Amino acid sequence: MSVTVLIGAQWGDEGKGKIIDVLAPEADVVARYQGGNNAGHTVIVEGKKVVLHLIPSGVHSQKTLNVIGNGVVMNPVGLCTEIDKLASQDIEIISRLEISSRCHLVFSYHQALDAAFEAARGADAVGTTKKGIGPTYADKVARCGLRGADLCHPARLEAKFRTNCGKANTVLASLGAPLLDVDAEWGATKTACTRLAPLVTDTVLTLNRAIKAGKNIMLEGAQGVWLDIDYGTYPYVTSSNTGVGGAVTGTGIAPQHIKTVIGVAKAYTTRVGGGPFPTELCCDMGEKIRKIGNEFGSTTGRPRRTGWFDAVATSYAVMLNGITELVVTKMDVLDGLDEVKICTAYELDGNRVDYMPADAEDLARVKPVYESMPGWKNPTKGARSFGELPLEARNYLNRVAELCGAPVKTVSVGPDRAETFRV
Ligand code: GDP
Repeated sequence: MSVTVLIGAQWGDEGKGKIIDVLAPEADVVARYQGGNNAGHTVIVEGKKVVLHLIPSGVHSQKTLNVIGNGVVMNPVGLCTEIDKLASQDIEIISRLEISSRCHLVFSYHQALDAAFEAARGADAVGTTKKGIGPTYADKVARCGLRGADLCHPARLEAKFRTNCGKANTVLASLGAPLLDVDAEWGATKTACTRLAPLVTDTVLTLNRAIKAGKNIMLEGAQGVWLDIDYGTYPYVTSSNTGVGGAVTGTGIAPQHIKTVIGVAKAYTTRVGGGPFPTELCCDMGEKIRKIGNEFGSTTGRPRRTGWFDAVATSYAVMLNGITELVVTKMDVLDGLDEVKICTAYELDGNRVDYMPADAEDLARVKPVYESMPGWKNPTKGARSFGELPLEARNYLNRVAELCGAPVKTVSVGPDRAETFRV
């Protein structure tokens, strides 16, 4: 038996979906534990591209049960759209999907509030995906949210929906945003709710019974460590705990069951939306990495900001989450460069620091201290083992491991599942 947690060790979009998909055949259960359909995981198998937002990444393995855990916020309409999209790609998921009775539900009024709040922030916008995730977590904490269990009680569900949608209209009016037609919104929602009700279970029991039965369980994080509501670059963060703590509270699996924590990091760094980003490259090199790496959001299509690998941020992420091994993705994107750089420390107000300042305003002021290494002229793309990588690429990965304090156990050199190998 083993429980493995897989998290993004940077600002999200590290290629977690692909890595989970590679590891999923070994897993009997893949569970999501936080976030909602603001996440976008791209999985490519045999040339077929599948973008997952809410459904865990165990989709291609017929024996894998996929669980939407209690820490997730689930949009019923969004989930039904995703199920249908997969069906159109000949992937049947309903018989292998369970939804937590405790997960909170995202509705159209949350999306309307998300957009209105973001507009009201003006220049201080957080850069949310406007999927209603923040307002749904706010309802959860305010103890007025709807949960998976409500899907199984249609009359109760409708009454709560109408009350909350009405309350949302009061807030929307105060922000000068367009009001919602409650009847129309409920009409557009109820079919999805009815359809998903049979999938609702107590997933805490499902997961803990699976542990008792000696099954392999993979807990799949969305976004990344530096978008965590507590530890990320607040307020430019997501509304949930993206790290290993979120995996515990978002599934109901006790910490002692977790044997492996895999941190996925790109060979460089990206970030979407606002917020401090010490190693950002606002120059031709940044543009080059964006182009070669196809760094555009899989949920929103927004261009991602790009920069060099930040070992200060990633080593902190290793410490914070007890990361036992690293996966480095997108090595191929750096193929052919004369030199590659790694940020090994920051300078903050003239002082050298080797940790991430907790205050986003301090982090915005730091200057990265770089170590330069020779790039690799021969491509990593095509390599199928560590030994097949160019020497400079091997040196780079060894240095990343040394600086971050965790071994690099898996390397990815292309988007396809086959372009991945263990070290
Ligand atoms: P996630 O949210 O962490 O799963 O990441 P995304 O799916 O948003 O972004 C990762 C993108 O990089 C996807 O388009 C993947 O197909 C692609 N990708 C993953 N690994 C590699 C790699 O090693 N090289 C290249 N070139 N692309 C990769």
